[in-house]
Amino acid sequence: MPIVEKSLVRVQRTEQLEIDGIDVSGDWNTFIEPRVRADLDLRIVDWVRAQPQGDTIDRCWQCGTCTAGCCMHTDYGLEEFNPRYFIYLAQIGYEEELQRYAQAIWRCVSCNKCVERCPKGVKVEEVVHTIGTYLEASGRAPETPADRFDRAYTDNLLDRGILDEAQLFRSYEKLEGRKTPGRELLRMGAALLLSGRLHTGPLAHRTKGWRRMRPVLQGLLEEDLRRRRASARTSRPADGSHP
Ligand code: SF4
Ligand code: SF4
Repeated sequence: MPIVEKSLVRVQRTEQLEIDGIDVSGDWNTFIEPRVRADLDLRIVDWVRAQPQGDTIDRCWQCGTCTAGCCMHTDYGLEEFNPRYFIYLAQIGYEEELQRYAQAIWRCVSCNKCVERCPKGVKVEEVVHTIGTYLEASGRAPETPADRFDRAYTDNLLDRGILDEAQLFRSYEKLEGRKTPGRELLRMGAALLLSGRLHTGPLAHRTKGWRRMRPVLQGLLEEDLRRRRASARTSRPADGSHP
């Protein structure tokens, strides 16, 4: 049973409470989460390793060079974006912890600095995306605003074969359950109009032959999703061995 790293041990703090200078918060007697876990699921690393983009995951020796040079982690201050850590969690099969980062994983901007610098030849960018795909395909990661935007974007594109920005905005707002103030809508509408990107309304342009193309593309997307879900559900061999 792997022992998870120190940062995963979260102290369950009670409220700070002091009476007559005596700490009665209970922190002195704090229980911590156990460091030995039995709920690890190595199907993640099996699945990632079996994908063409994820087959270098086993080479990672956790040196941290990728994270140290990652622009999202360093330049943009997104500390929770940590490719070394994502790979580590996948390697030990700690899916529950990975799910906490299901949204952050997709913040990778594919600059490939990590790939250039990795001393072990790990295709870090691809491995990180493959881990994200696993979480998505397994259907166990919570749906994020990015997922909802993807859904709205795909539906919008499938509708006429060309993006209707105004419609996309409306659908996304509906999915998110929020409403943009009228003045902000006017400002955005005017900017889209001036840039010539406002393809909306019944008379808007439609991609030629889209009526025939649409079912083909829709079928492909559904087939791809079905295949990824089925593959992510595939069980590890009963003896627990690696393929
Ligand atoms: S630089 Fe390469 S070997 Fe080092 S932690 Fe990142 S992926 Fe792993
Ligand atoms: S490709 Fe992604 S993970 Fe690698 S350095 Fe760039 S942002 Fe970071």
